[in-house]
Amino acid sequence: TLYMYSADCAIIQLVDTKTKSIGMLHAGWKGTLNGIISNTVNAMHDAFGADPSNLIAVICPSIGKCCFEVGNDVAVQFKNAGLGDFISDKYEKPHIDLFGANKEMLIRAGLKEQNISVIDLCTFCHSDLLHSYRRGPIKDGKHLNGMNGMFLRLI
Ligand SMILES: [Zn+2]
Repeated sequence: TLYMYSADCAIIQLVDTKTKSIGMLHAGWKGTLNGIISNTVNAMHDAFGADPSNLIAVICPSIGKCCFEVGNDVAVQFKNAGLGDFISDKYEKPHIDLFGANKEMLIRAGLKEQNISVIDLCTFCHSDLLHSYRRGPIKDGKHLNGMNGMFLRLI
């Protein structure tokens, strides 16, 4: 069983049914930009022989485009990484679509688009279900994201 706690950052679960391997990663916006996704996909390849084109990914809830306001310095970093399509300018300050950016990084790492599912729930908006660091009021709260090897038997 793998599990990770998160607040507004995305947890991404990876499954390879051929090698029966699983992986999980925590993608804050810095991790998204700095290669956490390709590093994990490569690690699953090196450790288990998992072919990225066979991987199934689930992007778990994170802060949504509706609420992920950033400064121009962060928006520029997304633009420079070729992720400008995931910056919304319909708000007063730039907002980032982390779901879209993480999905794009999974595709760049070799995953097929049809193998990527997104649980498109904003942590900030869904206070009944999820914790949000930005929403607070508890700044060190987290919610649990888990996956179990048993999942492989259900596929
Ligand atoms: Zn929201």
